[in-house]
Amino acid sequence: MKLLITGGAGFIGSAVIRHIINHTSSQVVNVDKLTYAGNLENLREIDSSERYAFEQVDICNRAELERVFTQHQPDAIMHLAAESHVDRSIDGPAAFIETNIVGTYTLLEAARAYWQGLNAPRKQAFRFHHISTDEVYGDLPHPAESADAQQHLFTEDTAYAPSSPYSASKASSDHLVRAWMRTYDLPVIVTNCSNNYGPYHFPEKLIPLVILNALEGKPLPVYGKGDQIRDWLYVEDHARALYKVVTEGKAGETYNIGGHNEKTNLEVVQTICTLLDELAPKASHSALDAESSYKQLITHVTDRPGHDRRYAIDAGKIQQELGWQPLETFESGIRKTVLWYLENQEWCHRVQDGSYQRERLGQI
Ligand code: NAD
Repeated sequence: MKLLITGGAGFIGSAVIRHIINHTSSQVVNVDKLTYAGNLENLREIDSSERYAFEQVDICNRAELERVFTQHQPDAIMHLAAESHVDRSIDGPAAFIETNIVGTYTLLEAARAYWQGLNAPRKQAFRFHHISTDEVYGDLPHPAESADAQQHLFTEDTAYAPSSPYSASKASSDHLVRAWMRTYDLPVIVTNCSNNYGPYHFPEKLIPLVILNALEGKPLPVYGKGDQIRDWLYVEDHARALYKVVTEGKAGETYNIGGHNEKTNLEVVQTICTLLDELAPKASHSALDAESSYKQLITHVTDRPGHDRRYAIDAGKIQQELGWQPLETFESGIRKTVLWYLENQEWCHRVQDGSYQRERLGQI
């Protein structure tokens, strides 16, 4: 099977490609514009494989997409390319509208033209798999405000109510993808997943940012009280789920993917501090003495505008219908993640390329 994967140089896309090349016999064509978030270094361990090809292409460029489809003749698409950082979407929504909405539309049209020209068996087997987020659903009741909060989880039938420019642009793209099946019969699948974490996560996101700031003795920014709840999913569990969906999922279906790991942001930051106290005590900076915990660096800062209070996924459908469930608990996954960042600090410095210094983004 040949898979065309957009956004394959990013955090999740590169985990998907490493999974496919290392653990399956499928071929991959990686279509990526290489924005600040895309790094080919994330693919170094597999990029010499004969089953891997790279095309530096913007998904908003219809002519280039048509060339790629004609040249590579994929059997399915996994669409991950996106602007993905909520704080950046607050500062500059235009890029999110362009890539996440116009780019998805352009890819859908190029895919539809290509799919229509396939022979009947290939046409029927074709899949356009759109990778989306649980943020499209808005937020759930929070235990601090509602006694029965834990009974509320996002299901595939939850109504959309996005809060940020990022989640609104993803919601819009989800609607386009489903409309292309209803109107044109393009065989699509949508997955909505919770917050991912793990190796190769760009240091603007909470977990890598906290690890790197801690090691440098810098403040660990926690938005507001830090009581916002997210459901954390280890990226390699997500990669396995996505491959299962594109190869075994049913056209027209939506699958929610989550880690069964609800944690407040403050709990996440404190857990990282405890792990660093164990794995990297006495870091070489002056902000901490030998007896101190990294927790002393935690600094509460102004909350994100429009910040959703709680996300949590009911991943029952993908478990029952496709037999997927996460292998990592939060405790095992976060330990692996912290160890990876400790061993790969060079990667962190290289991908930040001078244009981003882990400064606060997304304030109005
Ligand atoms: P990322 O920001 O790490 O990577 C995005 C990739 O897309 C980069 O390699 C970038 O170069 C590429 N890209 C951006 N604009 C492009 C364009 N116009 N044309 C071609 N390539 C372009 O993102 P991620 O965290 O890996 O997320 C991947 C997908 O999963 C996104 O669609 C995101 O919405 C979704 N998602 C992410 C999470 C999460 O926790 N990270 C959770 C749920 C869903």
